[in-house]
Amino acid sequence: MSPNEIATEILNVFRERGHRAYGEGVSEQEHALQCATLAQRAGEESALVAACFLHDYGHLLHDLGEDIADRGVDARHEQIGANRLSAWFPAEVIEPIRLHAAAKRYLCGKEPDYLGGLSESSRKSLALQGGAMTDGEAREFERHPHFDRSVRLRRYDDRGKQPEMATLGLEDLRPLLERLART
Ligand code: FE
Ligand code: FE
Repeated sequence: MSPNEIATEILNVFRERGHRAYGEGVSEQEHALQCATLAQRAGEESALVAACFLHDYGHLLHDLGEDIADRGVDARHEQIGANRLSAWFPAEVIEPIRLHAAAKRYLCGKEPDYLGGLSESSRKSLALQGGAMTDGEAREFERHPHFDRSVRLRRYDDRGKQPEMATLGLEDLRPLLERLART
């Protein structure tokens, strides 16, 4: 696939399924665009902006329904998304996506106030994802080459749940995706 075809495929998935509820009063598409917009405004490198946009792409690929955490199911959306996208983008995009659930577990273990600031659905899925990291798990996570990016993505993720936030549009992300896509 050419970079143009890759970007078109991804944007079409958002057009077809992005209306799905993310929770907290925003759709999947709104959440993705908010995270990308927050990262861009903060001056993040383009790979991290793309990772923010695509971090929950896995939610759009499974058909397990919108309320799976309520039903006690962990779809491993971070793995589904990273695996699907890995043929198209470099590790700087893919690994923060793969690790964004782990980054939540890390922050819950490291920062006493972090858990209280999480949205209700994030707290629900935390238990399914393995709960807060132990000190040993956290030390190992810190040695991961994409540790820092993953934690940064996670903080935009947590803030990207604002009904009514003005954001980039879907097509604004196309040049970024095309530049990063590898053929
Ligand atoms: Fe997620
Ligand atoms: Fe998210």
